[in-house]
Amino acid sequence: MSRPLIIAIDGPSGAGKSTLGRRLARELGLLYIDTGAMYRAVALAAAAAGVGVSDADGVAEVARRASIRLEGDPDSLRVLLDGRDVSEEIRGEGVGNAASVVSAIPAVRREMVRRQREMGAQGGVVLDGRDIGTVVFPSADVKFFLTALPEERARRRFDEERAKAREQSFQETLADINERDRRDSTRDDSPLRIANDAVVIDTTELPIEGVFGRMLQVIRERQGLL
Ligand code: C5P
Repeated sequence: MSRPLIIAIDGPSGAGKSTLGRRLARELGLLYIDTGAMYRAVALAAAAAGVGVSDADGVAEVARRASIRLEGDPDSLRVLLDGRDVSEEIRGEGVGNAASVVSAIPAVRREMVRRQREMGAQGGVVLDGRDIGTVVFPSADVKFFLTALPEERARRRFDEERAKAREQSFQETLADINERDRRDSTRDDSPLRIANDAVVIDTTELPIEGVFGRMLQVIRERQGLL
């Protein structure tokens, strides 16, 4: 019997991390932890408290006080902020941008990383984020880095947004994606980077089924070695 796995999935936004993370968690009976949702919840909590994203100390205090719970199975994961269901609210474009700013604050990262390590300590988890394989669980059993060309990631985001009838042009979505990539990969604390031992998959032209099959194969092979 193999021990409980820790699977790390990192990469830029729109690369397919959450779709694939959920599917893997469901397939393998693991807990799915969406770490981006935690940074989004911090951004929302700061806005609700009237704390601006440029007030690093204020946001850090908000992060330390906030109760953030991820509940439910991978397909119907709910995000509770101080007991309130904010699952839909945190998906807004404004919250996403604010999350990418507050996530660059070292004290905020320290607090979230501590909580993520606690949540995943027992194993049996899939975590999706930017720094899982490099910082949160550098000794994860399997690390994936999913990526895709910015235009393709913007197209996916744009289609999703359009389905929800949000008003943004493709060019605006692409500019947003590029700006978020820039922020995530140039911040001083835990920038987005590929762990040395990560399996890199470019999802630009691969259908989701193909990526899923490939990931499952890597995990099965690795399990055989554990
Ligand atoms: O993945 P998602 O788009 O929901 O994440 C929101 C923001 O949180 C990202 O743009 C990124 O800046 C930040 N983030 C992070 N580290 C993580 C997960 C997300 O910095 N582990």
